[in-house]
Amino acid sequence: MKAVIMAGGKGTRLGQRTLDLPKPLVPVNGKPVLEHQIDNFARYGITEIWVVIGHLGEQIEQHLGDGSQYGVSIRYIREDRPLGTAGALHGMQETLGESFVLAYGDVVFDVNLGQMIDYHLAHHWLGTLAVHPNNHPYDSDVLKVGVDGTVQAIYPKNEKRDFDYRNCVNAGLFVLRSSLIAAIAPDAKQDLEKDVLTHLIAEGAIGAYKTTEYMKDMGTPDRFDKVQAHMEQGVVHAKNLSQKQKAIFLDRDGTINRYVGLVTNPDALELETFVIDALKRINDSSFLCIVVTNQPVVARNLCTEEEVDRIHDRMETLLGNEGAYVDDILYCPHHPDRGYPEENKAYKIACSCRKPGIGMVLEAAGRYNIDLSASYFIGDTTVDIQTGYNAQTTTILVGTGLGGSDDKYAIGPDYTAQHLLEAVDGILSGAFQPRSERKYVEHS
Ligand SMILES: [Zn+2]
Repeated sequence: MKAVIMAGGKGTRLGQRTLDLPKPLVPVNGKPVLEHQIDNFARYGITEIWVVIGHLGEQIEQHLGDGSQYGVSIRYIREDRPLGTAGALHGMQETLGESFVLAYGDVVFDVNLGQMIDYHLAHHWLGTLAVHPNNHPYDSDVLKVGVDGTVQAIYPKNEKRDFDYRNCVNAGLFVLRSSLIAAIAPDAKQDLEKDVLTHLIAEGAIGAYKTTEYMKDMGTPDRFDKVQAHMEQGVVHAKNLSQKQKAIFLDRDGTINRYVGLVTNPDALELETFVIDALKRINDSSFLCIVVTNQPVVARNLCTEEEVDRIHDRMETLLGNEGAYVDDILYCPHHPDRGYPEENKAYKIACSCRKPGIGMVLEAAGRYNIDLSASYFIGDTTVDIQTGYNAQTTTILVGTGLGGSDDKYAIGPDYTAQHLLEAVDGILSGAFQPRSERKYVEHS
């Protein structure tokens, strides 16, 4: 597999920090972004790399040379005038082989590329986009993705959104079939998203690869500082899915949003106090943040699964507007007790996902390579504590929502906290030690 890096853009928004450097050469933790990318490619055996250069391109060429110092072979596509992220690819179809990886030169990422490429090759799509939630979805290109992974719509960053949407952002890393290059006209400025992908999305030909791995553009001074700090702390590499991950599993109702009984429409969802701050702290750490919730509203026929999705659209919109996100949401739509007049029989089953069953936790653990003994479960009911215990995580009961008053299971938590922020602080400060690091683990 070969790779193309788009390094032709201008770096105007970084101001002072770029000095006179093109953005892809700006050092992060002592090394230009481009070198971090090349290292990531080389680790997965991608050693033939094309770099598209334009603005200040001669500096990039001078710095990277033929790539031999990095153990790769680098060639350049020189643009006399900017042809956009797609225009430069015209005529490259034969050269790039069946599929190739494409990255934007200002994105810092550390991704298990082998896994992403396998996923792409296992599907029929012309292109697979790496997608993830970020802390500024409101000014990012956001995608609507179906349950089978096909991208259904793209909402461009410069178009105002007056509707709820998932925090599912196009990260700027792609695996593309070279055949899509045939649609790119010669010598005309064309943008990959706007002029190529949008049409292919309408045809159902583009898929999304959802990952929790680190991918961040450093397009503004604030974002640059954050990336720099994450690189120093080792967060960037720690989130590569080839390595074991740590997660904080969160209950939803009563933990993230105010407890009001069953939530059957988006307007019933209101965030608990301190939740934004709590999630931001998790997002800033090396922990993943995964919501695991029972939603028997579906089995009771109070909601369809589509309506549950709309409630989650609202939740992610409220969080995203404030710069916070969750990495994934898993829910159980089932309920075991049959025989009620209004029920949706297809969902009235005994399943393994309904908490305190650990089906959802195991599903997430498989998807994201999570070490459960280094992970936490936070919730407001004894059902959550029992789930966390069953999954061998460390459990924290919060005082919001039911605050443990459901009394369904005779089990005590490992720790208690007033609210989500106090719980997260306890974890990140080291006060709430995980099971994996405690000598004695006792449960009542
Ligand atoms: Zn279930």
